[in-house]
Amino acid sequence: MGLSGLILLLALGSVLLTMANTLYSSYRVQHDLLIRNTLEANRVYAAKLAESTETHLDSTMQQLAYSASVLASDMDDPAHVSEEAERLRLQTKSLNSVAIVREDGMVLAVSPAALRRAGSSVKTDWGHKLLITRTPAISEPFTSAGGRLIIFISHPIINSAGRLLGYVGGTIYLNSKNLLHQILDSHYYRDSSYVYVVDRQGTVIFHPDGSHVGKSICKNAVILAVTGGAAGARQIVNQNGVEMLAGYAPIASTGWGIVAQRSTQATLAGLNDLALVTFGNSIPFLLLSLVFILWFSRWISRPLGRLADDARMGATAEGIARIERIQARYVEADRLKKALLRGMSLTSSKLDRLNHETITDALTGLRNRRGLDNALGLYELGGQSFAVITLDVDHFKSINDRYGHDVGDEVLKHIAGLMRAGSRGGDMICRSGGEEFVILLPGTTVENAFLIAERLREAVEKMPNPSGGVVTASLGVAHFPSSAELVGEVLKKSDIALYQAKRNGRNNTVRYQQEPAVPADAP
Ligand code: GH3
Ligand code: MG
Ligand code: MG
Repeated sequence: MGLSGLILLLALGSVLLTMANTLYSSYRVQHDLLIRNTLEANRVYAAKLAESTETHLDSTMQQLAYSASVLASDMDDPAHVSEEAERLRLQTKSLNSVAIVREDGMVLAVSPAALRRAGSSVKTDWGHKLLITRTPAISEPFTSAGGRLIIFISHPIINSAGRLLGYVGGTIYLNSKNLLHQILDSHYYRDSSYVYVVDRQGTVIFHPDGSHVGKSICKNAVILAVTGGAAGARQIVNQNGVEMLAGYAPIASTGWGIVAQRSTQATLAGLNDLALVTFGNSIPFLLLSLVFILWFSRWISRPLGRLADDARMGATAEGIARIERIQARYVEADRLKKALLRGMSLTSSKLDRLNHETITDALTGLRNRRGLDNALGLYELGGQSFAVITLDVDHFKSINDRYGHDVGDEVLKHIAGLMRAGSRGGDMICRSGGEEFVILLPGTTVENAFLIAERLREAVEKMPNPSGGVVTASLGVAHFPSSAELVGEVLKKSDIALYQAKRNGRNNTVRYQQEPAVPADAP
């Protein structure tokens, strides 16, 4: 995989991980917030309802207290007692029935009258206890003779002399409509929140689903807490195995507990949709990031990719030029580019030097034999016409012998200098070996080459040389393609001319001539 692919993978991986992390943590935060808020809302509801119920029971008790004070002044007039019972029931509205009982258990009045006949007597433990304690009281919920779940609220009737005359009491039917019902029922929500009430024993005395009323649920942690007089909120699993977020508060006067709750599942129902919406909203950003990452990974990898590609071309002039054109864009790529260029130009100059050394004669600085062959190869490739001058120093052995080898070397360098001075830019001057030299003159006719050779010969003869004595040279001249059809043959032809010059007595120049056909009658 390329650098761009790796960067893409890295950036994409980070973006996706960050996004997943953001989505997950926002989901967690919302999840916890929803649960906390619902618990808090239910706690506040339960407390508020407990307070309202308490207030309601309080006001009912006050009305009973007022009625008891009215009755204390006149308990003997049956009509007055009946009237008071009727007034009390109709005015308070919260009491389903009212009874006025004399201290000996005789029922003086009942409203509505249809329930019990006045004049009968009640001898219940409850009534007995009431008469002994002489205090206002609210009974535990119980099932009446008529089969209803009721509570009984009562107040003693004590006259001004402090004598107990009896009690006035009223019932509240727990599973039928009354004011208490209205308070609790009004807090039933469509969003699956609901309120229920338990008595001191953990028995349900109010529930939106009437079938639960009368059932005991004392094992529930919330019920244990609220019947113990505590208020608060917590997450519980109800007896049907459903997880609930419950707020609870006790009603001090009755020992009841109010629980407002909502299932966790219903609370969190909207959360998954919210997560999906959040994810949906982030898709355009994701796509935009993708495009940006794609572009940016290419932007980063491009200089390195090009450096890698162009470095394959090696230390050639084109390779170096291409690398120089690359825009590095950032520090590391720039350093790499510079290092590569340094390395390449070092290699290139080393190669050049090596190349130069292999084709150059160390003594004279002219091309050597290999250099000469290279040049001939190039001329052959280009179909270039050229003239050749070969030069051989005359009696060089005797120069060496007379002046020494070092002076002989100096003479060779001197002759090389003369050749350089007499040549043009495009000419190729070579020391082909020992005291022999070759000049290639591209685009030069054989006549001109001959004139040049003659000038050179005269210069060798006439110019002062390091030996101090006279030095002469013999020269041969040939031409491609007029002297030979093959490039490789021209040098030989020029050598033939040179030998002829030697035979002619040295210190002269000979142009190669086609060898005359040997006459048939030659000896
Ligand atoms: P000719 O006129 O027939 O060419 O006679 P010559 O003495 O020049 O020819 P020959 O081939 O007999 O001798 C060439 C001499 O050149 C022999 C050798 O010692 C000498 N020589 C060859 N290379 C060098 C060199 O690099 N330096 C010196 N000083 N002498 C060299
Ligand atoms: Mg020679
Ligand atoms: Mg010689």
